[in-house]
Amino acid sequence: MKRILIAIDGPAGSGKSTTAKLVARRLGYVYVDTGAMYRAMTFKVLASGIDPADESAAVKLATETRISLVDGGELKVILDGVDVTEAIRSEEVTKNVSLVSSYTAVRELMVEKQREIDSGKGCVVDGRDIGTVVFPNADLKIYMVADIAERARRRQEELSGTGVDLPVQQVVQELKERDFKDSTRETSPLRKADDAIEIDTTNLTIDEQVEIILNYAREIAVGHEEMQRK
Ligand code: C5P
Repeated sequence: MKRILIAIDGPAGSGKSTTAKLVARRLGYVYVDTGAMYRAMTFKVLASGIDPADESAAVKLATETRISLVDGGELKVILDGVDVTEAIRSEEVTKNVSLVSSYTAVRELMVEKQREIDSGKGCVVDGRDIGTVVFPNADLKIYMVADIAERARRRQEELSGTGVDLPVQQVVQELKERDFKDSTRETSPLRKADDAIEIDTTNLTIDEQVEIILNYAREIAVGHEEMQRK
């Protein structure tokens, strides 16, 4: 079947990355977690002792940074040759990532890198601006949403798995702040592309989310094939 590019956007905790990863596995596609790139950049800013509010210092650092995603079963995030896959999930990175990713020049560098992906191989790309800015011609655009209470529950569970226990109110607050910053920034804010399909995952299992997207993907891939034959 023809290999397509699937863009999955949505707010934090809507189920994007878990679903995107599984969809990619089922189709034998590459999975690209663009949030991991912004997290790696933020990790470097913090590790370098730079104030994340210092835009010009953060941008300068970004020009001297190499970030790559290696998808060999489990996605690895490599920052200047060092594996930072786990380090980029820290609370400190999560708290600062929306600020660092709001800088236009940082975004330009990341988007340039993201567009190097060979879409002909088939890929699932998740983020905030994939369907609107990075790949506006994506074959399939999904916008995932879920109730804030459910998103907080998921995030709390994920954190607890890494040994961090936070009260649910704090998790709700952090998610709201991040969504607010991500959707109100000047450059490529989080928003649903006009031609994206919205999926509310509040009451869906992961398997159900995956199946819904796979059905759309198959339909589109078959459509492309028929068009080519004509
Ligand atoms: O997907 P994840 O929650 O790990 O993303 C972390 C942060 O990276 C987001 O809150 C957002 O600030 C930023 N991001 C972005 N554009 C993307 C992906 C992520 O600005 N395409």
